[in-house]
Formats: sequence, C-alpha cells, structure tokens
Amino acid sequence: MSIQWYPGHMHKATKEIARSLSSIDVIIEILDARAPHSSSNPVIDKIVKEKPVIKLLNKSDLSDPLDTKKWQQYYNKSEYQNSIAINAMTSESKNEIVNLISQLSERKEGKNTLTMVVGIPNVGKSSVINMLAGKKIAKTGNEPAITKGQQKINLRNGIMLIDTPGILWPKIEDPESGLKLAALGSIRNTAVGYDEIATYIIKFLIQKYPDYLKARYKIDLLSQDEHEVIELLAKKRGCLSKGGKIDLTKISEIIVDELRTGIFGQISFENTEIVASKI
Ligand code: GDP
Repeated sequence: MSIQWYPGHMHKATKEIARSLSSIDVIIEILDARAPHSSSNPVIDKIVKEKPVIKLLNKSDLSDPLDTKKWQQYYNKSEYQNSIAINAMTSESKNEIVNLISQLSERKEGKNTLTMVVGIPNVGKSSVINMLAGKKIAKTGNEPAITKGQQKINLRNGIMLIDTPGILWPKIEDPESGLKLAALGSIRNTAVGYDEIATYIIKFLIQKYPDYLKARYKIDLLSQDEHEVIELLAKKRGCLSKGGKIDLTKISEIIVDELRTGIFGQISFENTEIVASKI
C-alpha cells in the first residue's frame, strides 16, 4: 500500500514555509510522541537548514514514557534541535517552551522573535498555539487539515507565532508509516479503511503491549494471530451482525477509537531504533 494524500493546499504550505523562512528566527515542529519519525516531515528538515528547531513531542500523555525519553535524547544530540515532551491539553510546559524560544532566538532588541509552527495534520498544532496564546485562537478538531492559510499570533511576550497549515509529504513510501499515521488520525479515515488500521493496531499490541490488550478486553491471549484476536474481541463486545457473523467494521471502529483516545494505555508505535542507523 502506498498512500497518496497530498491536498493542493499542502503543496502551497511547503512553498509558503520555504518563502517565509528567511525572516524566521525559530521553528517549532510538532510531532506525535507516539510516532515521532513517521509524524515528522522530511521536507521540513531539508528546508530549515541551520535554523534552530524545537521538536515538540506532543500527546506525550498518550505515549510510552520510556520511548519518549529516548526520542528527546535523540533529538537533543543534534546541533540545531531541541526537544520537549508536552501535553498540549495542559499549560504545564508553556514556560519551558517560551523560555527555550527566547534562549534560541537571536532577536534584536525591540523586535519579536518570529516563531513558525509546523507539523502534519492532527498532530496538535492548533492546541499548542492555543495553549501558548492562553486562549482559543486556531480551530482544533479530530479530522486532519482543518487549519488552512497562514496566520500570525502575537503572544505579547516578545514572541510572534506564525501558523502554517498542516503539511504531509507527497507520498508515504513506507507502508507501515502510513498505517501508523492512519491509526493516530493524521491521515483521513477514507485514505485507509478501518479494518486495515485495526488489524495493524491489534498485531502491534500483541507484539509490544500484550498486557494492555489482555487487561482492556479481559481476555487470555491464546492466539498470536491478529485476525483471531479481533474475532474474539468482536464476540466479547457483541459486534455481531444479524446472522451472528462478526461485524468487522464495528469492532474495527471501536479498536481505532480506543487507540486514538489512549484507552489501552500509554503506547508508542516507534522507538529510536527506527533511526538507529542515523545516530
Ligand atoms: P492540528 O490539526 O495539528 O491543529 O491538531 P489539533 O490541535 O486540532 O489536535 C487534534 C486532536 O488532538 C484534537 O482532538 C486535540 O484535542 C487532540 N490533542 C492535541 N494535543 C493533545 C495532547 O497533547 N494530548 C491529547 N491527549 N490530545 C491532544
């Protein structure tokens, strides 16, 4: 499977970022802490060059703390990158982010630090902006690509945020990255079917977090086969159609929804081994 999902406004966003980059002091790239590699955008790394970048590992309330810590260490090793694990639904990291922006900025006296916020859809850009602004500014929502166009937000503390629309690379070459992003909600539900996403999630949970799966559905994992486990879950949850057949769509929707809202527990789809060759 290779997912083609690159709306026109995303091409525009990439061009806009490149064009306005010369006046930008600091870049905030928001990543999903549960899959930092797949939710990062290779285009960003290519165009930002030697600008300071803060990699915000957002949704860290939903990610595996051990993996998140390793990701932070990984990013902090790089010369131009800094990383903070945050939960944009609270303002507990606000001061740390603001202080880091000021520290990295080479802003002239009396001028605002222009800080560009980038990230793929649904990663939490609007939530982060609202949190930093202390009020609701940008639209937020569970479906990708709600934020469109570029806007400036003056934080009135010497920092001016520049918001860009969600961008995603033109083609996800690695099919597994596509599935992870679909599982996390960064690719529209229509791009990958629920059945396929749920099958991927269950296969992954069997391998990495079997105890979460057992505890959530009160089951014994007698089988390691994801299809058999999904069947078992469907029966447990009463997801059966009229003839007593498994309602695959219904159980798949439940699985995807529970994964997205963190009901299974704190899980990460990626640890730093995925980029180990680059360390
Ligand atoms: P955007 O498309 O990048 O602007 O993403 P949004 O800010 O609209 O966030 C997408 C969804 O993720 C919304 O339902 C938010 O409530 C949720 N969200 C954002 N940040 C966090 C976070 O740190 N933790 C949790 N649990 N949910 C978050």
